[in-house]
Amino acid sequence: MSRDVVSVRPTATVDQVRAVLVSRRLKRVPVVNDEGRLQGLISRADLVRELAYHWQCRRCGHQIRARRPPNGCPRCGAAESFEAAPPPAAVNTCPTCGRPLG
Ligand SMILES: [Zn+2]
Repeated sequence: MSRDVVSVRPTATVDQVRAVLVSRRLKRVPVVNDEGRLQGLISRADLVRELAYHWQCRRCGHQIRARRPPNGCPRCGAAESFEAAPPPAAVNTCPTCGRPLG
């Protein structure tokens, strides 16, 4: 596989994938394991869906990614305390090297 092909590892975080898609202006990025085998594709639509399932505790700020808000907060114990989390800040620096993305 060519080194010029942009890909992410299966261990990449959502934020890292987001940064790759934005900085390389891609609509989707392949997920490749240590042996260079294709494991799947992550698209921008997948990330939008992921961000839609993001919840935050009103009392302590604890954040959870899940399809439904949890009944109780695992950190502070508050019941029915989760609301949709605010959208994350725009990715404007590379999570790997810290340089601004252009
Ligand atoms: Zn909490």
